Amino acid sequence: MRNKLIIGNWKMNLGLADAQDLVFKLKSSIGSKQSTEVAICPPSVYLMTLMNVLKDTPQIKVGAQNMFYKEEGAYTGETSPKMLKDLHVQMVIIGHSERRQYFNENDKDVNLKVKSALKFGLTPILCVGEDLKTRENGEAENYVKNQLIEGIKGLNNSEIEKIIIAYEPIWAIGTGKICSGEDANKIIKMIRSTIKDKSSSNVSDKVKILYGGSVKSDNFKEHIQYEDIDGGLVGGASLNFEEFIKLIDLANTAHEQTQSHPV
Ligand code: PEP
Repeated sequence: MRNKLIIGNWKMNLGLADAQDLVFKLKSSIGSKQSTEVAICPPSVYLMTLMNVLKDTPQIKVGAQNMFYKEEGAYTGETSPKMLKDLHVQMVIIGHSERRQYFNENDKDVNLKVKSALKFGLTPILCVGEDLKTRENGEAENYVKNQLIEGIKGLNNSEIEKIIIAYEPIWAIGTGKICSGEDANKIIKMIRSTIKDKSSSNVSDKVKILYGGSVKSDNFKEHIQYEDIDGGLVGGASLNFEEFIKLIDLANTAHEQTQSHPV
């Protein structure tokens, strides 16, 4: 059975002092016995400082919010996978809808980044999700399926099983609107079965698939009960210590319950 996973995407928020404060609080609250895995993705300029704070806390993993696919070179302003690896960063968000929307990242860029992250031993958190128009036209499943297929193109089974997928409908990100547990589960089941078609059931059983989009402690209870929803990629609520801890607690409880009564 897969453990649940809660990842905080801080986006371009928090000053350094607040970032450190949040990490110190998380560090003293997250126990090593809980089943839920936890990660934070702070702004890249804070990675080195926060990695130092967390160097003796393996139960909190650290990820970047983006990277370029090239190892080094004349790419002003970019961060390479090699640099992230040098800092011992473990994960990297790839293809977040805000990167696709504001920085014109396309499926080809996303695929190159996924491959490059894997090459450098970083776990890619591959984001997929449809906009409102696509959902209203009844095309959400096909759209997300295509993004997924393009994102994992050319990977072998042992690479696919290392990826984390985050299903994040764009219309639910930062809007306060949440995709219902039932609807999210439908897409997430489709993602798992697509991964199975592209690899094997052994691989698709291992891949963690998260939901993201206005996750809060008062709306996530429903989602996290589903056996196929392995956790959340959390934006706004990850900036609030109490909220983030509540989400981790919800995931711990859901894991215990699904072990005895799978949904
Ligand atoms: C995100 O940053 O990926 C996200 C889902 O944001 P929010 O939880 O704020 O909607």
